[in-house]
Amino acid sequence: MGIDALISLWQDTAEDLVVPEPKPATQREFDVAIIGAGFSGLWTAYYLKKMDPAIRLAIFESQQVGFGASGRNGGWVSGLLPMSLGELEKMFSRSAAIEMYRQSFATIDEIEHVVRAEQIDCGFHRGGTLNGATNAVQAKRVRDEIEEARRFGLGEEHHRLISSDEMRARLNVPNLVLASYTPHCAVVHPLRLVRGLAKAVLNLGVEIFENSHVDKIRPRQIRTANHGCRAEIIVRATEGYTAQIADHRRLLAPLYSYMVATAPLSAEQIARLNWKNRETYHDARNMIIYSQLTADNRIAFGGRGAPYHFASRVKPDFDTNARIHDKIIRSMNSVFPVSTEVAVTHRWGGPLGVPRNWQPSVNYDKRSGLASLGGYVGDGVAAANLAARTLAHLIREDDHDLTRLAWVNHPSRNWEIEPLRFVGINGLIKLSESIDKHERRTGKPDRIRETVLKTFLG
Ligand SMILES: Cc1cc2nc3c(=O)[nH]c(=O)nc-3n(C[C@H](O)[C@H](O)[C@H](O)COP(=O)(O)OP(=O)(O)OC[C@H]3O[C@@H](n4cnc5c(N)ncnc54)[C@H](O)[C@@H]3O)c2cc1C
Repeated sequence: MGIDALISLWQDTAEDLVVPEPKPATQREFDVAIIGAGFSGLWTAYYLKKMDPAIRLAIFESQQVGFGASGRNGGWVSGLLPMSLGELEKMFSRSAAIEMYRQSFATIDEIEHVVRAEQIDCGFHRGGTLNGATNAVQAKRVRDEIEEARRFGLGEEHHRLISSDEMRARLNVPNLVLASYTPHCAVVHPLRLVRGLAKAVLNLGVEIFENSHVDKIRPRQIRTANHGCRAEIIVRATEGYTAQIADHRRLLAPLYSYMVATAPLSAEQIARLNWKNRETYHDARNMIIYSQLTADNRIAFGGRGAPYHFASRVKPDFDTNARIHDKIIRSMNSVFPVSTEVAVTHRWGGPLGVPRNWQPSVNYDKRSGLASLGGYVGDGVAAANLAARTLAHLIREDDHDLTRLAWVNHPSRNWEIEPLRFVGINGLIKLSESIDKHERRTGKPDRIRETVLKTFLG
């Protein structure tokens, strides 16, 4: 094994794509001020500026463009939303659920279109997603998902079970009892996409102010460490970091996701995996794992399950976690035995934003001029584009399909106060892990614990 770097693979392989000199903030008045230069903030700027080139628009970023989850994620541009069709139906209606998914699937085309139009070199490739099951309980979960798709009128072309022959022809994962495939997913190098997008918005005339941490948000006014700024509309696009802002401490809980990447596999190792079309791969365990084959033939593999930090703290120290990284490596080795033959070269992680109701939302209050988007629960790469387009149309007061989507102005209630939040979230994480263990050991569902989990996630 080689010595692995505690920075992301993406940071290590995007040095040629530099964002041209964002300025220090001098100007004090804008039509729209956006807080956060991740996918949510940048896509919002992109669409607003495309719709109205004269709009005066600035982005304030604590650190650098792509510093947050947008520059560190697993690179899945997935049309599958963090909330299922059934959950959406329960909360809104059948037609609202179908429309959310229809728009989410179309978002992959939209991102591909912009990547091509703006010539963003981010390795965009649409290979779809494979979901595997390694025991009977997981197999039931995979089947249920497909049945649910059918109940909502989504046919084989959207999501289907695949035979073991087809699975092996796409990707060789040992011990699978069942698998499904959806074409609605692409892979990208996320930091290259976020930097390419920043370049595109700068070219459109958006101002980006890096190293400008916003510590207070008020209607038509934000305050950074050095000065204030006025704007008719203020967009908060701060996801996993939201709890750091005054008066926003209980909106989104920061949960950490961690990743590792291997050295490039040889042609012979790729051939053994049979991974020709770079499908993303996950399985149906409760504690999510996710993987992609990068454009330079590395396995990038991630997992959730890290502990939540008391009082929603977010610190650079938390970006790596030896215990969780080792666990992720063990998972990777069992899913892809070939990974034991190559060095792990990178380990990293970061916070993502989770609302109390586990549903992302897009919010705009015309009277106060305050807007926000996010809470993607770890599925924000594509969703941030859809949310940003939705928000841009809301701000422009367009009568548009997107402004009628169910997630518009559907904010969650606040998280519990501490120590309840700490006990509750970490309890749920432990519960998910123990259910997976039980399923692995017995091949049977753990109904009691599953009911508890569902009750608290609801
Ligand atoms: C390890 C990991 C893997 C993931 N994998 C996937 C995946 O494969 N597919 C997927 O769909 N999703 C994935 N996600 C989630 C996805 O990356 C996020 O949902 C998405 O990037 C959120 O984008 P964002 O712009 O809303 O937030 P971020 O990218 O987090 O951006 C927020 C920005 O706001 C800045 N900021 C915060 N507070 C302030 C402030 N007060 N003042 C100024 N600036 C501020 C931050 O510095 C940051 O740059 C993953 C997340 C992680 C951490």
